[in-house]
Amino acid sequence: QLSRRLAVVGSFVKPGARLADIGSDHAYLPANLALNQQISWGVAGEVVRGPYENARREISRLGLENVLQARLADGLAAIQPDDRIDTVTIAGMGGPLIRHILESGVAQLKGVQRLVLEPNVGEATVREWLAANQFAISAERILAEDGHTYEIICADRTTTPVSYSAAEVLFGPYLLQEKSAVFVAKWRRELQRAQHAVAQMQRAKVSPTAHLAAANQKIELIKGVLADVS
Ligand code: SAM
Repeated sequence: QLSRRLAVVGSFVKPGARLADIGSDHAYLPANLALNQQISWGVAGEVVRGPYENARREISRLGLENVLQARLADGLAAIQPDDRIDTVTIAGMGGPLIRHILESGVAQLKGVQRLVLEPNVGEATVREWLAANQFAISAERILAEDGHTYEIICADRTTTPVSYSAAEVLFGPYLLQEKSAVFVAKWRRELQRAQHAVAQMQRAKVSPTAHLAAANQKIELIKGVLADVS
């Protein structure tokens, strides 16, 4: 039984996909998709030996060796040209790390049509990378589970330029339209956090910095988005 978070990530993997799940840990996600015959073949990539062994054990316990391979590799180096991977999932890491993994593996992304990403924090930097690399966000979900809020971003390769406003980058173009209860709760918390940070900087009488300006800009964006929410 997958967590809701991973189930949503999996729901964006198209039937018959050739999948690379990067930072797979126990390979729960690709193993579940393979068991349900949702993927035709997959790689579970792990950079750390312990989680890699977990993935291998899970794959052999479920008898999935023909459809799923664990590989010990850093990021997208887990993908080989012959794999014909068309979908990459990266879940449960910070946005900057996800961005770094995508950035350092652009060559391996050549045949990849769809990215399904679940950054635990720093979603904005992931959206910026997607737009700059011609992946258009096609769906997003936000959900709360076990006291955490998760955002899942699904993006597809496009040939037309992609650009998002500052608000779309921060909140997510679809999440911003939807303004679900989980979204509103998250941004009320973020507003408080940003206001607290600004108050601290002002109390410490630090001279205006880029940091302060960025925090103030974030506060204005959040206030704007929450303005018409009761
Ligand atoms: N994807 C699973 C999930 O969402 O439940 C596991 C998430 S776990 C918190 C993050 C995993 O990413 C760890 O097992 C870690 O070893 C792996 N990881 C971190 N950096 C990585 C990299 N550069 N390449 C491959 N795996 C990486």
